[in-house]
This record gives sequence, structure tokens and C-alpha cells, in this order.
Amino acid sequence: MVESSTVSSAARRIMERADAICQRDPLEHGVGRVVFTPEHIRAREALVSWARDAGLRPSVDGVGNFWFLPASGSAPRFLMGSHFDSVPRGGRYDGALGVLLALEVAGDRCGPGGAPNDVAVVDFIAEESSRFGVGTVGSSVYAGTRSLEQALALEDSHGVAFGSLRPGLWTQLPEYDGVDPRVLDAYLEVHVDQATDLVDARAQVAVIDAIAAPTRWRVAVRGVQAHSGSAPMAGRHDALLAAAELIQRVNALARSHVGSELRATVGALDVLPNAANVIAGEAVFIVDLRVLEVDDALTFGGRFGAEVSDVMARHGVTIEVRQLLSDRPAQMDGAIAEALAEAAAAANVAAIGVSSWSAHDAMHVASLVPSGMLLVRNVGGVSHSPQEAVDVDDVDAALKVARGAIERLSGSGRR
Ligand SMILES: [Zn+2]
Repeated sequence: MVESSTVSSAARRIMERADAICQRDPLEHGVGRVVFTPEHIRAREALVSWARDAGLRPSVDGVGNFWFLPASGSAPRFLMGSHFDSVPRGGRYDGALGVLLALEVAGDRCGPGGAPNDVAVVDFIAEESSRFGVGTVGSSVYAGTRSLEQALALEDSHGVAFGSLRPGLWTQLPEYDGVDPRVLDAYLEVHVDQATDLVDARAQVAVIDAIAAPTRWRVAVRGVQAHSGSAPMAGRHDALLAAAELIQRVNALARSHVGSELRATVGALDVLPNAANVIAGEAVFIVDLRVLEVDDALTFGGRFGAEVSDVMARHGVTIEVRQLLSDRPAQMDGAIAEALAEAAAAANVAAIGVSSWSAHDAMHVASLVPSGMLLVRNVGGVSHSPQEAVDVDDVDAALKVARGAIERLSGSGRR
């Protein structure tokens, strides 16, 4: 796309910085900012130096989140940020866009000469689950949904504990517990779209109303293992056949659900003994359910339970269902969503409203502080991929909307 000549220098700077923190050709190799790798550490060093240039003071909390506060020492009313880590061979903008854009907004509002000095920036650590198996580590510790001890005890696939790593600037920055949520009016996270909603709607930005949360069940089907040749078709207790039927029903339940949209997937299946000439004695699979309303997870769970009983009876197998995870969906704050939508309209930016089906740091922060999220159009709609792309015009539009929303909220005296 041809860049418009009216694009702000701040939007160009965001694009340049997103490129500058890539160590290799991002289109060929993707970005490799997996948490605590050299590429991630170096990117955070650059971030600290840019934040200082913007008049912000860097500090670090116990889990490794980097905080950037107004140098004036005044208490911020607004927190903006996202994450600087990536998946392996990831895209340039997932996470980084939100942090770099936050620096621009904070930089405008922080400094001498009567500036409000009211925006702080955060780089939440380990938002991606690529290394330690769980994601949103830093934001969940800040929100208290995961303890610091639990976070530090996480181990990667080589048995390296999260808590044994304090790389880069971590030990050199002042320690700080993070902004007291009680002084904050709002948390605002800008993020690249990870789907094609915006491309399809020909919109530049989207205001998120809610972030879906996962519920997961481990389903263990136990039948009778037998010879595939000698056992007649009648009278079998085939665990894999029963599991296959139940997996079909998971999909049918999601499709026939009445209420808010939900998404259910079985993406993992283990079969024992997994041999061509043996009727399976056991099949274990995991149901991943995403809901926007807690009640929908309860309804789905109840209906799934009825299907389990039916399949048990039909196939003469036993089925054990164990809940592995049950997160609460996060509602974004209505007043912040309104401020974002109004700011978009005032700036002539085409905006739509969407729900987010992927997890973000805002999901946790929303339990502490009224929160809002703004998505920026992703040119091809792909994320977690070197192909992830944004246009500078859309970044400029998001910048205008974020600035306008903060301006509106700062005048609204919500506190
Ligand atoms: Zn992200």
C-alpha cells in the first residue's frame, strides 16, 4: 500500500523501531524474541533507552515486568502497554506494537512544562506460552491471578526455572512493585489483529468488548483392548470409536449452542496401544472450549455431560472427565470502549466492535483496573507468523484513537 504523506512521525517511528528490534530478516526468518533469549533481551534494552528518551523512568518488578513511569514522579492515571516477547518465528507486531505505541502516547503526555505526566507504560513479561508452557505470566502475577512463587517455579522444556533467569537489564534497573491499581483510571492495550475481522470489514481499528476465556476438560475413555481380527464386530468395547463419536458431538454441541458464540475444539488425542491390529483399550482427548460468558461454559459442560453418559451406555465403556482449566472471560470497560469509539469517529478512523478470541494481558489486568483494547488491522490477517503485517496508516490511525481516548478519559474525572 502507498503510504500517505500525512502520516505522523510517531507512526513512522513505531514502524522503524518494530524493524530495528529484529535481529534477522523478519520476513524470511520471523522474529525470535522468545522470552529471555538474546533477541528478546536486546529488544528490551532498546526499549529502555527509547523510554528514557521519552522522559520515562524504567524499573522492574519481581517477575520481570518492565515499568516506565513519568520522570516527574507524579502518580499515573493511565497505564498502557502489552508485551515484547514473541513466539519462535513470530511476527514483528504481536505485542511490540502495543508497547511502542504506548511509548509515543506516554511521551506526549509526560515531560516538563505543564504536561499531565499521567501515562505509565508496561512491558509484561512472558505473554507467549512458547517457552514456559503457560502464557500471560507477567500480567497474571500483577493481577494476582498467579502468585509470584508459582511464576518463578515455572520450568521450560530443558528444566530451566523461570526464577533462575534474571537476564539483561533486570538486575540493573530499580526495583518497583508496579503501578498501584487503585490509582489507575484505565489500562489500555493496543494490539495487532490476529484474525481477518478488520480486513473483512475494511476497518482500520477495532474496539474489543470482551476477551474469551478457555475451559479445558481431559476426557479418558476406557474400553476393552482386543484383537482386531478375532473379536467379532458385535460385543466390542472400542475406546477409540467411543472417543470419535464423542469428539463429533463436541463439535455438534458448539454448533447448536444457543446464546453467545462459543468455540469448542478437540486438538489432542492419545490412543492406547495405538496399533493397527488392536482394538483400542483407551483413548484420551482434551476439549478446549472458548466462551465470552461464564454461563455458556456451564451450559456447554452440562450438555457435554449428557453426551458422555449416552456414549458410555452405547459403547459399554467408562469415561472419566476432569476439568483442567476454567478461566473467566474478561469484559472490557464500557466507558473506555465508548471513549475509543468516540475518538475513532472524531479522527475519521473506520472502527468496528469485536470480541477477542485470543488471550491478551488485558484479560488479567481487567480484574484490577477498568480496561480497554484496540486492535489494529493486520494486512493479511495472519499472526504468530513472519507474514504478520500492518500498514503505517493504520498505526497512525490507532495512535490518534489511543491519544483521543486518553484525552477523553482524562477529562471525564472518573476517579
Ligand atoms: Zn500478543
